Amino acid sequence: MIDWTYNARNDLAARINRRLTQWRMAAPVITQIERPIVSFTFDDFPKSALNGADIVERHGGKASFYACTSMAGKTGPYGEMFDADTLADLNSRGHEIGSHTHTHLDCSISSPDEVLSNIDLNLQSLREMGHDADVTSFAYPFGETRLDVKARIAERFAVGRGVFPGVNHGRMDRSHLKSYTLDPSQASLDSALAGMNSLKEDCGWIILFSHDVSDKPSDYGVTPQAIETLCQRAVDLGAVIAPMTQAAILAGAWSK
Ligand SMILES: [Zn+2]
Repeated sequence: MIDWTYNARNDLAARINRRLTQWRMAAPVITQIERPIVSFTFDDFPKSALNGADIVERHGGKASFYACTSMAGKTGPYGEMFDADTLADLNSRGHEIGSHTHTHLDCSISSPDEVLSNIDLNLQSLREMGHDADVTSFAYPFGETRLDVKARIAERFAVGRGVFPGVNHGRMDRSHLKSYTLDPSQASLDSALAGMNSLKEDCGWIILFSHDVSDKPSDYGVTPQAIETLCQRAVDLGAVIAPMTQAAILAGAWSK
């Protein structure tokens, strides 16, 4: 059963805990990034995220798609979700499929073993849907996690992506990377663009995340125009537009 309406806890204790978890690094790495890197990522994910793939490709890049397999083939608040054909299509075009748990689990209130078995189910479902490529990238549902879970994610995956905004550079936690949300608001676009502009002074890796991509996006989605603007800015900056695992390798944050 998918609870499409579930919201992660947001009381004071949960908010404090979330910040502490972001600061406590489980897999710190020191990086030296010479050329800006930009990663576009899409969570859950709706089929309309393919519009994002098209735009990213037109700008010479590839994106990452975090599959929550219990949502596959269903229709949710942000439209029709991915299916086996979507995975095959993205894979053949060189995009990355990442793990996002099977049930969209809140990893901050689950034990590491629960999280890992949910991920196993996720990876097994992906294989049953014909996706046999290695899955080396993970995104925490709701961006929620905890230190002991992050440590296990670091053992299992090259990267774990959170939802705290900011540029990844210098010392970073590869099991809890920062990323800017892209929603329909001008504020979210401005925030991501400001982050990208800061790369001119302080080189780093910017990760962006959203869900659906359409002219009339959901509250969690983004317009094709916004993706276009961000891609163009990345090109103007001379950035590499790379999916997450490849970006982690370029950043020196992970090696095979
Ligand atoms: Zn999600």
